[in-house]
Amino acid sequence: MPDGANTATNYRSPWLDDELESFRSTVRRFLTDVLAPREPAWQQAHQVDATSWREMGTMGLLLCGTPDEYGGSGGTFAHDCIVFEEMAYAGVVSLGKSVHNICAHYIERYGTEEQKQRWLPRMASGELVGAIAMSEPSAGSDLQGIRTRAVRSGDRYVIDGSKTFITNGQVANMIMLVAKTDTAAGGAKGISLVMVETDGLEGFRRGRPLDKIGMPGQDTSELFFDDCRVPADALLGGAEGRGFAQMMEELPYERTIVALWAVADMERAVRLTTEYVRERKAFGKALIEMQNTRFKLAEAKTITHVSRVFIDSCIQRYLDGTLDTATASMAKWWLTDMQCKVIDECLQLFGGYGYMRDYPIARMYADARVQRIYGGTNEIMKEIIARTL
Ligand SMILES: Cc1cc2nc3c(=O)[nH]c(=O)nc-3n(C[C@H](O)[C@H](O)[C@H](O)COP(=O)(O)OP(=O)(O)OC[C@H]3O[C@@H](n4cnc5c(N)ncnc54)[C@H](O)[C@@H]3O)c2cc1C
Repeated sequence: MPDGANTATNYRSPWLDDELESFRSTVRRFLTDVLAPREPAWQQAHQVDATSWREMGTMGLLLCGTPDEYGGSGGTFAHDCIVFEEMAYAGVVSLGKSVHNICAHYIERYGTEEQKQRWLPRMASGELVGAIAMSEPSAGSDLQGIRTRAVRSGDRYVIDGSKTFITNGQVANMIMLVAKTDTAAGGAKGISLVMVETDGLEGFRRGRPLDKIGMPGQDTSELFFDDCRVPADALLGGAEGRGFAQMMEELPYERTIVALWAVADMERAVRLTTEYVRERKAFGKALIEMQNTRFKLAEAKTITHVSRVFIDSCIQRYLDGTLDTATASMAKWWLTDMQCKVIDECLQLFGGYGYMRDYPIARMYADARVQRIYGGTNEIMKEIIARTL
């Protein structure tokens, strides 16, 4: 039995079918046998090695939902969801497939035909690793306040500025940069998305991986652009000033991924904890025989199942093309809050061992906290939901 997987009895996600289940078995084998054993090394190195990215690409697990004409695996978002779930169940948390997919999804949705052909096959193979560079030292939630500039000069854009907290910051060589192309325009106007290929790019520099309380194997970094010159056809979609609207339209995709990870993590926590309390004894009996343990796990299992049903509805609606931003924001807020609550309650049942990083539950506790912060903070989620009242 894997130490994750759906914990509810007699329930199958409505978006699953037999083909996806068989795909899941292949993914699970690869992740548990090949990538999960590398997690400790990645955590020590504070980044994932290029070979592992390539292997994910060779297995067809990077851009599962991208059409094969662009080098993707020709599946749907459901295939990517399976990979995210299995990564969470196997504890493969350092490889930033989420932002890689989000970066590619922007290209797929807004890129010109030439841009899709140029970048997507290399992203599918893992030759290019994607990052999303939105946040800056003085602009996180309030992205309209970004200062990074990409100013047109002949057949180039000249980029100056810095970004912070960028996932895949050490390994990414395909960076979706949010920049002001019209520095005179205020607010959201004048913001564009520039796809920056960083291999050999002069004036581009990476800071060291940032020292975080969780996810030590993920290379969250600062990025610096100093008079960087990229070809004018790096502008996503070929028209300036559309960046803010493009980012807003992409929110349901990004938030569904964060929320799905939260649910898969809860499922893993409930399973790991149930196994532990069956084995661990105190006062002459297994912990699971104590009413507090049973009630805590009954609560955690119920919250997890409610969460699963909600995320399944979001995934189905995403596949049907009907998922709206407010509902995706509800999922991101509520499910990541529940993730932290469930993992905290589960950790308590491990006693002192729950505080030891040797135990997955301890790492999950530290890793989970950022889920309420990135991808738009949970307070911003409530702002978005409140606008629909
Ligand atoms: C590990 C990690 C990985 C990340 N990965 C990426 C990445 O790949 N790419 C990227 O671009 N960014 C990334 N981020 C950045 C992340 O998206 C931002 O940290 C987040 O958007 C919040 O911005 P901030 O840190 O500037 O906080 P601030 O915007 O300063 O917010 C501080 C607090 O004020 C609250 N607040 C702000 N505005 C409002 C409001 N209007 N109403 C109520 N409360 C409000 C916030 O909710 C928060 O609690 C990552 C961050 C971390 C920690």
